[in-house]
Amino acid sequence: MNEPKPKVTVAIIGAGIAGLSCASSLQKLGFEVRVYEKSRGPSGRMSTRHGEGWSADHGAQYFTARDRAFIEELNTWIKAGVAAAWHPRLSVYDSGQWQESGSKEKRYVGVPAMNSPGQYLAKNLSIECNQTIDKIYRKDGKWHLRSLENGEMIQSFDYLVLAIPAPQSYALTKLVDHSIETICSDIKMQGCWTVMARLSNKADMHFDAAFINNEIISWISRNNSKPGRTGQETWTIHANPQWSQQWIELDKDEAGQLILDSAKQLGLNCHNAEISIHRWRYASGAINTELGFILNDESKLCLCGDWLHSGRVEGAWLSGYKLASAIDISVAA
Ligand SMILES: Cc1cc2nc3c(=O)[nH]c(=O)nc-3n(C[C@H](O)[C@H](O)[C@H](O)COP(=O)(O)OP(=O)(O)OC[C@H]3O[C@@H](n4cnc5c(N)ncnc54)[C@H](O)[C@@H]3O)c2cc1C
Repeated sequence: MNEPKPKVTVAIIGAGIAGLSCASSLQKLGFEVRVYEKSRGPSGRMSTRHGEGWSADHGAQYFTARDRAFIEELNTWIKAGVAAAWHPRLSVYDSGQWQESGSKEKRYVGVPAMNSPGQYLAKNLSIECNQTIDKIYRKDGKWHLRSLENGEMIQSFDYLVLAIPAPQSYALTKLVDHSIETICSDIKMQGCWTVMARLSNKADMHFDAAFINNEIISWISRNNSKPGRTGQETWTIHANPQWSQQWIELDKDEAGQLILDSAKQLGLNCHNAEISIHRWRYASGAINTELGFILNDESKLCLCGDWLHSGRVEGAWLSGYKLASAIDISVAA
C-alpha cells in the first residue's frame, strides 16, 4: 500500500478574521495548519470587552456582506447562531444637524458578541494564543519562527502566512523580503480612541447608533440594541481616525475625557457612567491590491488581512479565503 503523502504545513501569524478564514479554508483543503496569536484569544479587531454584568463591542461595530462567498459564510454563521442582522435606529450628525439615516444597507453583528464568529471559526483549528511572533526566517527550505514568550518554535513550515496589520507585517518582514517591506511601508494605518460607557439607566437618545461628523467623534452606538446582548446599558464611542491619530500618544484618561465632553455636547451624558477606554494603535487603513493578498511563490511567504482588501471585516475574511485558494494552486503547480 502507498504511504499517505505528508501534508503541506502552514504557519499563520494572527488569529483575526483574515487569519481564521485562511486557516479554516486551508484545513478544509487538506493542509496542516497552525495559528499563532499574541492575545489571549482569537478574533482580533472583531472584539468584545467583557466585565461583570456588561459587555461592549469595542472594535468592529457591524459588518456588511456583498460578495457571494462571504454571504455563504455569513449564512453558516447565522445558522450556527453566531451572527445575526442588526436593525438599529440610525442617525447622522453633520454640520451641527441631526438627521435620520436613509441607509438601506443590511448590517450584521456577531451574536452574542462581535467576537463570536471568530470563536466559532477557531473551534476546529489548532491555535496557540499568548505567542507573539517576533522573528521569522527561512532555513533549508522551511520557515522557522520565534516567539517572545517561548523562544524558537520546534516545528518548521512549508508556507508562512502573516495575517496581521501592515506595520506589524513590516516589522517582521523587513529582514527577510524587501519587496514586501515596500508594500507594507506604503500604507499608513490610523488609530482609534474608544470609550465604553456603562450607564445605570437607559439613555434617552433618539438613536441606537449614529455616524457623527464633528471634530472628535465618528461613531456612537448602544450595544444593548444589538441582538443577543444582555446586561448593563453600555454605549461605545469611537473617535474619528484623524483626531485619534493626532492624539494617539495622549494620556488615556485625558483622551477619554475629551471624547466624553464631545459626546455630552451631542446629548449623550456619561457623567455618572463607569468608563473603560481602549486605544487601537492600528484600527483602519487599506491599499488597493489586485488580488487582495500577497503570495511569493518562491519564498512561500504570504500576507493577508483587511489592509490588503478594503479595510473591513468582509475584506479581511475574503483576503484570507482567497489566499488559501492561491496557496492550494501554488502547491499543485
Ligand atoms: C475601532 C474599530 C472599528 C471598526 N469598525 C468596523 C466596522 O464597523 N465594520 C467593519 O467591517 N470593520 C470595522 N473595523 C475593521 C475590522 O475590525 C477589521 O477590518 C478586521 O477585523 C481586520 O481583521 P484582520 O484579521 O485583517 O486583522 P486583525 O483583526 O487585526 O487580526 C490580526 C491579529 O494578529 C495578532 N497579531 C499581531 N501581531 C502579531 C504577532 N507578532 N504575533 C502573533 N499575533 C499577532 C493580533 O493580536 C490580531 O489578533 C473596525 C476596526 C476598529 C479597530
